This record gives sequence, structure tokens and C-alpha cells, in this order.
Amino acid sequence: MMIISGTHHPTSGGKSLRNKTINKLKSRKPPGLTAKNLINTQFCSGKLWNEEWTKSHVTNKDLITRPDKNVDGMSLPRNQWTTINRIRTGQGRCGSLLFKWSYKDSAACDCGEVDQTMIHIVESCPRRLFEQGTEGIHKVTKEAIEWLIELDLDL
Ligand SMILES: [Zn+2]
Repeated sequence: MMIISGTHHPTSGGKSLRNKTINKLKSRKPPGLTAKNLINTQFCSGKLWNEEWTKSHVTNKDLITRPDKNVDGMSLPRNQWTTINRIRTGQGRCGSLLFKWSYKDSAACDCGEVDQTMIHIVESCPRRLFEQGTEGIHKVTKEAIEWLIELDLDL
């Protein structure tokens, strides 16, 4: 084992590294200047996020009235939290998407509905329907948690 000490590195060809000037590329966007600009323009990430959210077109967008605030249920166990968010976004393991992703041969629900979407499961499926609907799931009511626990699908 070779021990390297001192100011000479094996790749420096025996030259000293102590007085070597390092040529760095000059930053085109120095963080200090960026910070000054943000302060001068009174940048507010919450305000920007609200504007972006208002312009966006996402499923169940109306559930979120304050996009800069946390939604309910963040302290729930992960599996419940995940399922609630999948219902909020309409992007869960429902028949429709499993069929789309080629994991199922059909998008149909076992109740007879041709297309088993997340909205169908929560709001209109005669076997599973949650009376408070997607809104109740979003608000994480006590009944919503009970419904999630009893739900026979792994969304
Ligand atoms: Zn159904």
C-alpha cells in the first residue's frame, strides 16, 4: 500500500499543487444574484404555486381550494394515505387503468359497469359506492377511513 502525503499528487507529475490556480468556469447564474432578484421582485412561491394551480387542468382540481396548504390525511398510515391520493387524482389500480396498462383483459367492473374508473368505484358502483363521494374521501372523514378499510379492492 502506497501512502501519499505532502503537496505532491501522483498525477501532478511531481509539481506542487499548493500554488496551482484552479480555473473554474464562471457561473452564468450566480446564486447570490438570483437571490437578489428574487428579493427585489418580492418572489412568493405560494403565490406562484396558486397561479400555476389555477391555470392547470387536473382531475378533481376543485377539491383543492388552497394549493399552498397541506391536504388532510398526511398523518394516516401510508397505505391509506396512498389510496386517498389515488382517489383524489383518479390514478389508481382500477379496472380502467389496469386494462390500459395491459394488466387486465377488460376494463369492466364486477358490478357490470363497462369502465371501472376511480370515480365509478367511489361515486357510482353499486357494490362499493361511498355515500360522501370523492369529496368525503378528500376530507378524510371518519366514514371515509372505515370505507377504505372495508374496501375489497387494492387501489
Ligand atoms: Zn362497479
